[in-house]
Amino acid sequence: MRLLMKFGGTSVADENCIRRVVDILEESRRAGNELAAVVSAMGGVTDHLHAIAADVIAGGESPPIEAFIQALRNRHLKTLAAVAPDSFDEMTEIIDTEIAHLRTILTAVFNLKELTRRSNDYIISFGERLSMHILSAALRQRGIPSVALDGCDAGIITSPMHGNAMVLPESDTHIKTRILPLLADSVPVIAGYRGCTRDGVITTFGRSGSDYSAAVIGAAIDADEIWIWTDVDGVMTADPKIVENARVIPTVSYYEAMELSYFGAKVLHPRSIEPAMRRGIPVRVRNTFHPAHPGTCITKYEHADERVVKSIAYIEHVALININGAQMIGKPGVAKIIFSALAERMVNIRMISQGSSEANITLIVDDAHLTDAMEALSGCVKECIVREVTSDRDVVAMAVVGSGMIGTPGTGGRIFAALGKAGINVMMISQGSSEVNISFVVRDEDGPRAIAVLHDEFRLSEDPDE
Ligand code: ADP
Ligand code: ASP
Ligand code: MG
Repeated sequence: MRLLMKFGGTSVADENCIRRVVDILEESRRAGNELAAVVSAMGGVTDHLHAIAADVIAGGESPPIEAFIQALRNRHLKTLAAVAPDSFDEMTEIIDTEIAHLRTILTAVFNLKELTRRSNDYIISFGERLSMHILSAALRQRGIPSVALDGCDAGIITSPMHGNAMVLPESDTHIKTRILPLLADSVPVIAGYRGCTRDGVITTFGRSGSDYSAAVIGAAIDADEIWIWTDVDGVMTADPKIVENARVIPTVSYYEAMELSYFGAKVLHPRSIEPAMRRGIPVRVRNTFHPAHPGTCITKYEHADERVVKSIAYIEHVALININGAQMIGKPGVAKIIFSALAERMVNIRMISQGSSEANITLIVDDAHLTDAMEALSGCVKECIVREVTSDRDVVAMAVVGSGMIGTPGTGGRIFAALGKAGINVMMISQGSSEVNISFVVRDEDGPRAIAVLHDEFRLSEDPDE
C-alpha cells in the first residue's frame, strides 16, 4: 500500500515521541508499504512562535528575541542529539542556518515596528521547518533513506491569503513530480502547515493546518490511505478533554467528519477531508501513543449505526452579531449588501439564521473578526439599510452531528428539550438542508454542561453495538 502518514505536534514533542514515530514508519515500511510523512512542529512550538511575534510587535524596549531563539535552538538540538547522534554536527549547521533566518526576521519586525500577515506567516510556520529536519535525520539514523522538504519544496502552491491559504489545483502536478520519485527508496518528510504562493512567499493554513497538508499531498500522490497520527485513539463522541467518558467512533463518513472539524473538533483541520473525499481516499485517525488501537476510519460510507447522533463539537472564540430593522422586511437585496460588506473585510461567517419576520438576521463570526465585522455593518446602519447591530462575545457554538439524523424526525426536539430541562438557554439555532448537523449557540459558561447533557441524552458513552 502507499500511505501518507501525518504526525501531529504531540507525536513529535520530544525524543521519545520521535522514536515512536520512527518505529511506526519503520514497521510499516518493513511490511512493504510505500510511505511519505508530513510533520507538525514539535508540541507547543507554534504557540511560542505566535507569542514571540506578538511580543516583538508589542512595542516594549527589548523583546526577548535572543532568549527565545536560544530556547528554541536548545530544544531542537537536544532532541536531535538523542535521535540522530551520527549526523548531529551536520544537522546542527542546518538548524543554525534556519534559526539565523528567524532571528533576522524577528529583529526586522521589531526595528520596523511592522508585522505584516506575510511576515507573521513566515514566523509562525517556522516550527515545521525545524521538525522536518529532525524526523528526517532520525529516520536516516535508523538506516531509512529520507529527505526533508518544506511545503514549498514539496510543490504546495497556495492562494496569497496569509493565515488561511487555500492550496491551488496546480499543486497536484508539482507534488506528484517532486514526491513520487522519492517513494521507491526513501521516506520523504514534508513540513506541514505551510506552502507558498506562485511568487514563492510562505503561507500557512490556519491552526492544525498540517492535516490539510497531509490530505493535499496524500491525494496528489494517490495514496491508498491517509493516516493522521495524534494523541487520542480516534475521532470521539466529544472532545475527551471536555467529556471524560467520550468514546472512540470506529467509522465516520466524510460529511460527518467535515461537520465535526468545521465545528471545532480540533482532531482534524476543517479542510482536511475534502481533498481525500474527492479521490475517495480513506482517512484514518490513530494514536501514536497507542498504535495497537485501530482508530477511526473516515470514508464515504455512512455506517449503519442505529444511533442518530454520533458526536458533539464545540467552537470557542466566536461572537454573535444581531442585525435588526424593519427596513429588511420584504426588501430584496438587503442580505446581499450585508454579506458583501462583510466579505469586503474578509470576515468569515460561521453560522447564519434569519427570523421569518425578516426583521432580524443573526450571524456567528470568529471573535478575531468581530471588530472588522462591526465596522462593516456600521456602514449599513449609517445608510439606513438596517436599524441596529449588536454583538455578544460570551458565546460558544455547538454542533450535534450524525448522518442518522437524515430523515429521522424528532432529533431537534430531543436536543432542545434536554437543554431546556437542564435550564440552558439557546440563543440561536441553525440546520443546513444536509441534515447531518444541527448547530446552535449558548452562553459560554453553559457550553461544557450543554455538551455533557447532550452526550448523556444520546447515550454516546455506551457502545452502540452492545
Ligand atoms: P495534533 O497535535 O496531533 O494535531 P491536536 O491537538 O490538533 O493534535 O488534535 C487532537 C486533540 O483534538 C485531542 O487531544 C482532543 O482533545 C481534541 N479533540 C476535539 N474534539 C475531538 C473529537 N471529537 N475526537 C477526538 N479528539 C478531539
Ligand atoms: N503547528 C501548527 C499548529 O500548531 C499546525 C499543526 O500542528 O497542524 O497549529
Ligand atoms: Mg492538529
